[in-house]
Amino acid sequence: AGRLEGKTAIITGAAGGIGQASAILFANEGAKVACVDLKQDLLEATVEQISAEGGHALAIGADVSNREHVRAIIDQTIEAFGVPNIVFNNAGINPDNRRPLTEIPEDDFDRAFAVNVKAPWMMIKYVAPHMAKAGGGSIINTASISPFIVASTASYSASKAGVVALTKVAAVELGHLNIRVNALCPGATMTPLAEEQRKELKGRGLPTADDIIDRLSVLGRTAVPIEQARMALWLASDESSFATGSPFIVDGGWTCI
Ligand code: NAD
Repeated sequence: AGRLEGKTAIITGAAGGIGQASAILFANEGAKVACVDLKQDLLEATVEQISAEGGHALAIGADVSNREHVRAIIDQTIEAFGVPNIVFNNAGINPDNRRPLTEIPEDDFDRAFAVNVKAPWMMIKYVAPHMAKAGGGSIINTASISPFIVASTASYSASKAGVVALTKVAAVELGHLNIRVNALCPGATMTPLAEEQRKELKGRGLPTADDIIDRLSVLGRTAVPIEQARMALWLASDESSFATGSPFIVDGGWTCI
């Protein structure tokens, strides 16, 4: 039997790298997966692939930073697959690719916090009462290693540090309801987001991840999305039953350098 047999999961950012790899992996492990993203067409492709492999998935086009959308995501998931046992708050943005804080527009800063921090808080706020009634669950928030080392911009690093803090508060407040909350902290991973950033940096004549790989990993390479998805799977499954409130770093040794 799969490691998530009989479970229902919500995964946000499921049209992209880490979220998409996780949606496919979780479905292969037996979970029914509600796949959420802004990009409806790419989502449909993910869901089709899962169905073709015999899994169960649902595409929900939504903006996770919108309260009504968050409530609709939860309602639609419950209607289709029952109360979620797993919520993977993974959608995230980095609007200020290596810009110094003096050059970051206020709108970018607000947007980074709305999508990276406020969205997972709202999801937890509205889903926790359902999970509690159903006996508990596992929540995973995608942070980054940027809260631990100076690796990114003011908007991104500060918002991802917020994700780690939110994870700890949620773990403390929800532990008595048997809801575990952990953070996945990826290092450099080759996803559509990373690819976009690579192109933009090239255009600006700045070094890309490939150029500085010996500063980003002791393994001499970036990660592929499935290497992050496997940590998310462990955190989602009962195998991590005593893990809560912690950041789990998967970075090829970046934070050691
Ligand atoms: P990605 O851009 O490939 O995937 C993210 C997905 O989130 C996209 O499909 C996007 O459409 C979706 N999204 C963005 N805003 C949304 C919104 N408001 N509502 C719904 N969906 C929305 O990126 P990825 O690299 O797979 O990133 C996944 C997570 O991992 C993000 O939180 C990112 O910050 C984090 N992360 C990535 C890396 C990396 O190197 N790729 C490193 C550290 C952390």
